[in-house]
Parts: sequence; C-alpha cells; structure tokens
Amino acid sequence: IIILGIETSCDETAAAVIRNGTEILSNVVASQIESHKRFGGVVPEIASRHHVEEVTIVLEEALKKADLTIKDIDAIAVTEGPGLVGALLIGVNAAKAVAFAHGIPLIGVHHIAGHIYANRLMAEMKFPLLSLVVSGGHTELVYMKEHGIFDVIGETRDDAAGEAYDKVARTLGLPYPGGPHIDRLAHEGETTIDLPRAWLEEGSYDFSFSGLKSAVINTLHNAEQRGEEIKAMDLAASFQASVVEVLVTKTIRAVEEYGVKQVLLAGGVAANKGLRYALTQAFDQIKDVELIIPPLHLCTDNAAMIGAAGTVLFEKNRFAGYDLNANPGLELR
Ligand code: ATP
Ligand code: MG
Ligand code: FE
Repeated sequence: IIILGIETSCDETAAAVIRNGTEILSNVVASQIESHKRFGGVVPEIASRHHVEEVTIVLEEALKKADLTIKDIDAIAVTEGPGLVGALLIGVNAAKAVAFAHGIPLIGVHHIAGHIYANRLMAEMKFPLLSLVVSGGHTELVYMKEHGIFDVIGETRDDAAGEAYDKVARTLGLPYPGGPHIDRLAHEGETTIDLPRAWLEEGSYDFSFSGLKSAVINTLHNAEQRGEEIKAMDLAASFQASVVEVLVTKTIRAVEEYGVKQVLLAGGVAANKGLRYALTQAFDQIKDVELIIPPLHLCTDNAAMIGAAGTVLFEKNRFAGYDLNANPGLELR
C-alpha cells in the first residue's frame, strides 16, 4: 500500500509518501517559522497564504523524491483537524482536487493520530500501548488497545506543554518557537528556583501548566522589582524540571495501572532533550515495557506521520468522501 500524506494544520506545509505504513519513501517539509518569527507566533492569515504557495510544490517534490508518479498512489491521506481552519482547508482541498482528478481514494486523518503514528515509522506497535502526546496544542495520555482506536485517559485543563514552553520563552525574550531555546538554556542552568508541580486530584491523569507558567513570570517580575538578578538559564532549568517531572511521573503511573507493553512519545515537545533523557532513564528501570521515541524530524509536524496513520484507516476501509471538510475541533477517538 502506497499512501501520499499531506499536512497543513499549522505552520508546516508537508507531503510524504509512505509504503505499508512503516517505510518512508519521501518526507518533504516546508517550514514557515521564519515568516512567523517576527510576530512572536503563528499568524493564521500568513500561514494560509504560505500553504497556498507551497502545497503544489511540496506534493510534486514528495512524489519525485519517492521516484513515483500519482498513478502509483493507492490513497491520499490528509490532516482534516484539529488545527487552524484556514490552514487545514488548503491541505484538504489540495488532497480532494488531486484525489478527484485521478480517481484516488481519500482518507481524513486526525493530526494527533499522526503524531502518535510517527512511532510506527520507527518500530512495530505492540498493544496495549500508551502514548504521551506533548505538542504545541495538546498534552494527553492516550491508551490504545489496537490500531486506530484512541482512548484519551488524561489531557491538559489549560495550556499545552508546548504552549507553556513558548510563553515562558517569550517572557525571557527568546524567539519563537521557544521550546528548543528553553531546552538548550535548561541544560546550561541549574534547578535552583522552586516552582510548583500541578499533580491535580489523586489518580488524575490530567495536566495543567498555566500555574507553572504564571509562577515563572511572577518569579521574573518579582526579581526585577527587587533589583535582584535571576539567571534565565536557571529559570529555564527549573521550569523544564517541573514539566518533565509531572509528565514522566504520570506516564509511569498510567503504565502500571493499564499494564501496557509499549510507551510512544509523540508531538513537537517530544523533541525536548530533558524529557527524552528522563523518560529513557525511567524506562530503563521498568521491565517488559518498551519505550519508543521518534527522531526529532518526526516529532515536529510532518506528513510522514499522516501517511502512517492514514495507512491504518486504509486497512480498515475508513475512507472519506470527496465532500471531506476541514474540522478545526476534531476529536481523537
Ligand atoms: P498540535 O500538534 O497540538 O496541533 P502543533 O502542531 O503546533 O500543535 P507541534 O508542531 O507538534 O505543535 O509542536 C510544536 C511545539 O513543540 C512548539 O510549542 C515548540 O516550542 C515545541 N518544541 C519543539 N522542540 C522543542 C524542544 N526541544 N523542547 C520543548 N519544546 C519543543
Ligand atoms: Mg509547527
Ligand atoms: Fe503537531
């Protein structure tokens, strides 16, 4: 099965060709980060315009790099949601146009299912499994008893982990997206600043990062007012320690309660070195549970993951009609 994946939910225009859900034949990503940087975040109008300009080029390049033509494609899988509606629409309409013109089946993919399935490009998935999804818009623990069925056992009640990273970074005057900058600073600093950990009610797998974010901002402002100096790298290190401790602790508790065989790390924040290290250390101690962590370029937005998730829907005959629409609030199920 050869699937052409398309992803335009946020600020990456991406296309990829995937064979049998596991093998990357091509993976093309046109990032718009440079265009959004000076605004300190993604500007939806600018994102849509870039997608319009890039989508055809990226599609052709993905086919060319895979050394295939559109005739070799069994289905087109596209992100239908969640994301920015204007951005999603460009990918969905491009997919529909190509699918309709060539009589190719169409598949709608949930963006977070895509992030999770990035792992299938690295290793065979073993069920039941648990995925820790940490991205710009999501922080979730997802239980899967089989392919294509998602049970969200915990999620953020306010900010997503990536959102907290980006906001803290902005407070420290670092460029967008701030996650990688905080990550780098954190490794230079020390965890000398006492910051809260939001455990929530006993037994809850939900997350909350807005209190932590506010604590960082308050710490900085209070120090400024007192004329005290606070090292940005120490604040970054302390912030990262709080995020990582909560994520790792809740993941391990869920692994024990649900008795899973595998843990998959997913989403843009999965690129975080502190999180990757802490999870790896923790799972070295846990027998019979395999931890999978995708390489950095499969953690952030890409279309290879959409092709991989789309393959499962192809196998289950879950096709979309040519009336497929963008759905910015699509739920993971
Ligand atoms: P979603 O996937 O929830 O729809 P998104 O697609 O915008 O949101 P991703 O592209 O998956 O998000 O991830 C982007 C986020 O990952 C940004 O918030 C960015 O700061 C964060 N990020 C990237 N690298 C790192 C890192 N090394 N450490 C922490 N955060 C990081
Ligand atoms: Mg992005
Ligand atoms: Fe994403």
